[in-house]
Amino acid sequence: MNLPTQVTLCEVGLRDGLQNEKTLFPTQRKLFLTQKLMEAGFTVIEPGSFMSPKAVPQLADTDELYRQVGESKAELRALIANLKGVERAAACGCKKVKLNVSASRAHNLANLNKTPQESMEGFAPCAQVAKAAGIALSGSISMPFASPWEAEIPLEDVIAIVETYLSLGVEEISLSDTSGMAVPNQVYRMCTQMQQRYPQVTWWMHFHNTRGLGIANLMAAMEAGVTRFDTSFAGLGGCPFVPGAAGNIATEDVIYLLDRMGVSTGIDMDMVMEIGRQVTQWVEHPTESYLLRAGTGLL
Ligand code: ZN
Repeated sequence: MNLPTQVTLCEVGLRDGLQNEKTLFPTQRKLFLTQKLMEAGFTVIEPGSFMSPKAVPQLADTDELYRQVGESKAELRALIANLKGVERAAACGCKKVKLNVSASRAHNLANLNKTPQESMEGFAPCAQVAKAAGIALSGSISMPFASPWEAEIPLEDVIAIVETYLSLGVEEISLSDTSGMAVPNQVYRMCTQMQQRYPQVTWWMHFHNTRGLGIANLMAAMEAGVTRFDTSFAGLGGCPFVPGAAGNIATEDVIYLLDRMGVSTGIDMDMVMEIGRQVTQWVEHPTESYLLRAGTGLL
């Protein structure tokens, strides 16, 4: 198999995971988890978002969390949807933000109440303000593979978003299978095409395990040469606007897989298991993590 020697994981449980949870996590608990994740070896973490606090009450304290974390060696990126998000990031010392638009028109309308085109028109001022404030910018494309409303998304629609990002100087792009509808050969094809067409871009993949294909999709993306993936502790996550949405691929499951295959992540498996168990207790419901259920089985 064509496996990389090393991959980088971004823990998105504090954002993608918690935004879907009813139990509100106090800022202190998020701070504890952020620090534990850094201790475990994560160099990239998505600790929150700067979206409307009314729309996502769980993440209303992202500003406060950044203030409390202070300077850190890890890259702490936050999801934003508009200029207000960049302004909040600048005010609390956040150094990296991620713009987001869906390749699915219906999803973007449901999620952000705008067409993808309207969302993208708002990106230029975000990029200007971010640059002036010394904030690094990345971009995410939700549902580049398929959506429950439009079935397969035409590749041209994805390319139009990539081109918009590049025109703004954004060269780090995440493809997010928010609907969990991607299948491995489609992932392989998309990753191969995108890397060939845009070799200057640093690609991230973000898989939801809605239909049990998250790990298979990660394998397909690695086979195509992608080495950056989002994962979520205890497999938490989902999108409130996607029917039947399920969590991201679980951090524990992915690290187990990569460790066993000899692919280095720099992240400590035991510490990640401990974080997953703690989070499961706090959310007060069973989670979708195989490893938390079965353990590693290793001596
Ligand atoms: Zn997600």
